[in-house]
Amino acid sequence: MHTSIWLDTEIKPFQPLHDSLQTDVTIIGGGITGVLTAYHLAKQGVKVVLLERDRLSQSTTGHTTAKITAQHDLIYDELIQHFGEENASLYYQSQKEAMAFYHKTIKMFQINCHYQQEHAYLYTNQPNNREKLEKESEAYQKLAIEGTLVDQIPFSFPHLKALRMNTQAQFDPRTFLKTIVAEIEKYQGHIYERTTAVDIDYQSNTIVRTARGHNIITDNVVVATQFPFYEGKAFYSTRMYPSRSYVVGFTSSEAYPGGMYLDVDQPIRSIRHVQKEDKTIWLLGGQAHKTGQQQQHADPYTELTQFANRYLRSQAFHYQWSAQDYETLDKLPYIGALNKRHPNVFVATGYRKWGMTNSAVAAQLLADLIVGKENPYKKLYQPQRFHADPDLKAFMRNNSDVATEFIKGKLSKTDRVEQLKPNSSAKIKHDGKTIGVYKDDDDQLHAVDPTCTHLGCECNWNQSEKSWDCPCHGSRFNYDGKVIEGPATKNLNKLSL
Ligand SMILES: Cc1cc2nc3c(=O)[nH]c(=O)nc-3n(C[C@H](O)[C@H](O)[C@H](O)COP(=O)(O)OP(=O)(O)OC[C@H]3O[C@@H](n4cnc5c(N)ncnc54)[C@H](O)[C@@H]3O)c2cc1C
Repeated sequence: MHTSIWLDTEIKPFQPLHDSLQTDVTIIGGGITGVLTAYHLAKQGVKVVLLERDRLSQSTTGHTTAKITAQHDLIYDELIQHFGEENASLYYQSQKEAMAFYHKTIKMFQINCHYQQEHAYLYTNQPNNREKLEKESEAYQKLAIEGTLVDQIPFSFPHLKALRMNTQAQFDPRTFLKTIVAEIEKYQGHIYERTTAVDIDYQSNTIVRTARGHNIITDNVVVATQFPFYEGKAFYSTRMYPSRSYVVGFTSSEAYPGGMYLDVDQPIRSIRHVQKEDKTIWLLGGQAHKTGQQQQHADPYTELTQFANRYLRSQAFHYQWSAQDYETLDKLPYIGALNKRHPNVFVATGYRKWGMTNSAVAAQLLADLIVGKENPYKKLYQPQRFHADPDLKAFMRNNSDVATEFIKGKLSKTDRVEQLKPNSSAKIKHDGKTIGVYKDDDDQLHAVDPTCTHLGCECNWNQSEKSWDCPCHGSRFNYDGKVIEGPATKNLNKLSL
C-alpha cells in the first residue's frame, strides 16, 4: 500500500543550510503556504530564504485531499451570525480570489496538475442537518454565492439533501508546487531542506537560529509551519487545536460520477477522484478526531474501507494516509503579524482543513504586508482579533480539553511490558515516571518519555500511524521519539528498559 497519492510526484531536493547568512525575508516551512509566499515575494525582487525541516511539501500539503473550493463545510451562515454579512462576504471574496489565482497560474505556466473544475456538494442524511443546509443555502443567496439545494447526489448511501456550490476545482498540489518551486529559483530565491528553525532572536537585528547552529539575519520572518514553532508570547497554544483525518484511495467498478462531496453528519466523509494514467482513483477521507485522542479500538482505515466496499463498489485499495490541520477559536485563519511586539514576524495558520485556498489568501496577504501594499483582507484575518462570543466559548472548551490532557496523560493505567503483544503499545509507570513503550512485530521494545518536548503535555499512542501524538498542540513523534510534525523541535527522550 502506498501512502499519499501526491507523493508519487518528486520535487527536486535541496541541500541543508551550511552557513550563516543575511536576507530580506526568511520563510520557515516549505508547505504550500511557505512556497506560495516565497513565490509572491521573490517575483517582486525581494531576497527570500525558505527553510524546510524535512522535504518540501511532504507534510500536510503532501497529505491533503486538495479540493480548491470556497465551500468550507457549513460556514457562511455562522460567519454572518458572528461577524456580519460584510465580513462573511469578505471571507468568500478572498477565497474566490484564491481560486482565481490557481486557475490563472496553472494556465499561465501550463501546469499539467490534473486541475479540473467540479461542483462541490455538502450533503446530509439527518433532519437537523438538513435545516442547517437550508440555512447555509440562504447564506449563499445573501452573499451571492452561486449554488443551490438539490435532493439527490449520485451515490447509493442514504442522504436527504445536498447543497451545491457551482464550479469549484481540484488538482494535484505537489505537481503544481513543483513548477512554483522552479519559479522561486528562477527569481533567485534560496531554498534549504532538512533545516529546522529553532528560535527567533531579537538583538539589533532579527535573527533566525537553526538546529545546526546557523544564523540568518533577516528583516522579516514568515512562520509557515502550521502551528507556529515560535509563539512570541502570542498564546497560539491556547487558541488553536489540531484535528487529524484519514484518507484511502481505491479503484471502483463504477465510473466516477463527477463532483466533490463532503458529509456534514458524523463521521464526516469527503469524496473526490484523481485520474492516474488509465486508472480513476477515488479518494475517500474522514474519521476525523482531535490529534492524540483517537479511540484506541477503532481503526479509521478499516472504517473507511468498509464504507467504500459497502457504498462505492471499491475494487483495489492503492493508497492510505493521514494528516492534521488546526482550527482557531472563531474558525477563521490567523494570517498577519504574530502580535504587536513582533511586527516583522508573520504567521499563517488555522486553515481548518481548507488550506488550498487559505494558503493562497495568506501568501498574497503576507507578501502585501511585507512590501507595504494595501490588502482588503488584513483586518479580517489579523491574528490578534478577539470576537468575544465564539472565541470565548471555544477558548473554554479547548483549554479545558488541554488541561484534562495534562492530567489524564499522567494518570494513564499501568500496563506490564511482558503482557504487551507485538505491534502494540502501553504506558507504564517506573520509578514514579511514565514510560511510553511500543513493541514492534519482531518483539523489539522501543521506550520513550512521552512528555511532549513542546510544552510538556503527555502524548498518546496512535496505533494506526504507530506514533506518539500530543493531544494539546499536535506535535507527533515516531515510535522511537523522532519528531514527525507539529510545533516540537526536539525529539522525545529515548529510554532504555
Ligand atoms: C486529511 C486532510 C485533508 C485536507 N483536504 C483539504 C482539501 O481538500 N482542500 C483544502 O483546501 N484543504 C485541505 N486540507 C488542508 C490543507 O491540506 C492544509 O491546510 C495545508 O496543506 C497546510 O499547508 P501549510 O503549508 O500551512 O502546512 P504544511 O504543509 O504542514 O507545511 C508546514 C511545513 O513546515 C515545516 N516545519 C515545521 N516546523 C518547522 C521548523 N521549526 N523549521 C522548518 N520547517 C518546519 C514542516 O515540515 C512542513 O513541511 C486538508 C487537510 C487534511 C489534514
